[in-house]
Amino acid sequence: MLACYHERSLSCHVEIMSIEKFSLEKVLSVHRWTNTLFSFTLTRPAHFKFTAGQFARIGLKVGDELVVRAYSVVSSPFDETLEFFSIVVPDGAFTSNLQHLQVGDELYLEKIPYGFLTLTRYQLPLPHDLWLLATGTGLAPFISMLQDFDTWSKYKKINLVYSVRTASELAYATRIEEIAATFGEGHSGFKFVPIITRDPNAALHDRLPVLIENGELEKAVGLQFNTESSHVMLCGNPQMVEDTKEALKARGLIMNRRGEGNIAVENYW
Ligand SMILES: Cc1cc2nc3c(=O)[nH]c(=O)nc-3n(C[C@H](O)[C@H](O)[C@H](O)COP(=O)(O)OP(=O)(O)OC[C@H]3O[C@@H](n4cnc5c(N)ncnc54)[C@H](O)[C@@H]3O)c2cc1C
Repeated sequence: MLACYHERSLSCHVEIMSIEKFSLEKVLSVHRWTNTLFSFTLTRPAHFKFTAGQFARIGLKVGDELVVRAYSVVSSPFDETLEFFSIVVPDGAFTSNLQHLQVGDELYLEKIPYGFLTLTRYQLPLPHDLWLLATGTGLAPFISMLQDFDTWSKYKKINLVYSVRTASELAYATRIEEIAATFGEGHSGFKFVPIITRDPNAALHDRLPVLIENGELEKAVGLQFNTESSHVMLCGNPQMVEDTKEALKARGLIMNRRGEGNIAVENYW
């Protein structure tokens, strides 16, 4: 039984009674990118099947309580382990504890995955150009999608746009190149576009909605948003998601509902 259930953030404190919904998984690796960003991998139980773009609910014991938070899966659905990419919120109930994670520790993993930020949700328009727009750890579901050959065969153009505050927060930049070389081998339509908002010398440093309004993003990519061909996914900071959504709507793009439409979103808080 859930002690509380915050529907919007899918975050909650769970009583020990609901523990059977979870399996206990071992931490296999921890990689610290900066003081506030790290990635970790867990053992993957055979029952945990997911589609690229979905999220898991991970639990951590704090005292006698299980604190649970939503985490997009970074790894591909075909991987043997589960990778996650995490922020550290200094006074956050979950991450202030999770930041001390070490290899060999154990975390609770809810047995079923959740979420609809998947490419299967798009029916019309037919796949042609895919725009994956992320802030910070909102990159996670897109790394999963890019490690699926299906994504590369479906789309002629793929633009991964990753907005961070400082260059040091550009985690996964090298991995992205490796993934493009491995999974997108022979695919000429991939663009990785970093945005560094606190670096005025960065090629792109404005907020995503501004870069859409002033046409700089399309110029950098060499492609325009198109109601007849664009699938656009937004993930991360809710303010970015809201403002970017409005900027895209002003360009005629529409929210994807029941398979039809251009824009799909996921808010992290
Ligand atoms: C569907 C979904 C998927 C998510 N996937 C991820 C993920 O892959 N990686 C991840 O780090 N978080 C993810 N989150 C957020 C995550 O569930 C927690 O909010 C986060 O781990 C912080 O937990 P906390 O208890 O420490 O702080 P909380 O009390 O949950 O959050 C406190 C505050 O921290 C800020 N915050 C929370 N999450 C983030 C974040 N990711 N980046 C920047 N600021 C944040 C917000 O201002 C929030 O109000 C996801 C959330 C949702 C709803």
